[in-house]
Amino acid sequence: MLQFEHVSKVYEGGTKAVDNINLNIENGEFIVFIGPSGCGKTTTMKMINRLIETTEGNIYIDNENIKDKNIVELRRSIGYVIQQIGLFPHMTIAENISLVPKLLNWSEDKRRARAEELLQLVNMDKTYLDRYPNELSGGQQQRIGVLRALAADPPLILMDEPFGALDPITRDGLQEEFKKLQQTLGKTIVFVTHDMDEAIKLADRIVIMRKGKVVQVGTPQEILSQP
Ligand code: ADP
Ligand code: ADP
Repeated sequence: MLQFEHVSKVYEGGTKAVDNINLNIENGEFIVFIGPSGCGKTTTMKMINRLIETTEGNIYIDNENIKDKNIVELRRSIGYVIQQIGLFPHMTIAENISLVPKLLNWSEDKRRARAEELLQLVNMDKTYLDRYPNELSGGQQQRIGVLRALAADPPLILMDEPFGALDPITRDGLQEEFKKLQQTLGKTIVFVTHDMDEAIKLADRIVIMRKGKVVQVGTPQEILSQP
């Protein structure tokens, strides 16, 4: 579903943030990129939705080079969740969840029904539809950030430390909830963290990065059994 072929990124100024990544990610896989701050995780994610262009190499989604795709369509086909979720404070929860469906011209009824269905997935009832972000807890807001990424049912979701700002108990709960959700929905997920416990809990395969390079790829069991 997602392939990296000799992908590198050198920023202006000369920092080689990503150094020759080669990787195949299967449909429905939960992949977690892990490594210390500055090793190139976020750069890798941003190259997938072309917030950043590769300096060298190519990325393919379903065997199509992302450079050949329409950039607007590419971004709409990829859900993106980051730590600073950035819900719009003047929009209701229903409106925040429905940003992409609205761009896709879904009817009001369809958008609302979809938002309600998504809220149910995270055990929030429809009374939340018309509330505003500041009426929700941090954990609830982060759930909405995840739902927003799922709204138009994209096949691929990118998550960059989505639970990083939450307290440990909220984070544990969300991780569990989210792993179940991923298994139910069968999405391909590329997830970034610097927390090995989180990686082990969530990943089908873990990709370990150091200084822009992929240094190890394996299942949590394989990674744990390394000396
Ligand atoms: P991570 O997500 O693993 O913390 P990043 O991908 O954010 O790593 O950064 C990788 C390297 O690229 C770091 O050395 C960082 O300082 C550098 N970097 C990130 N963004 C930019 C940028 N816009 N311009 C120049 N250097 C950058
Ligand atoms: P919950 O009630 O779901 O546990 P809290 O409101 O207690 O959520 O917030 C959990 C943690 O997340 C707190 O440490 C808080 O500072 C942080 N937090 C709150 N709002 C946000 C937000 N919008 N984005 C990221 N972190 C947040």
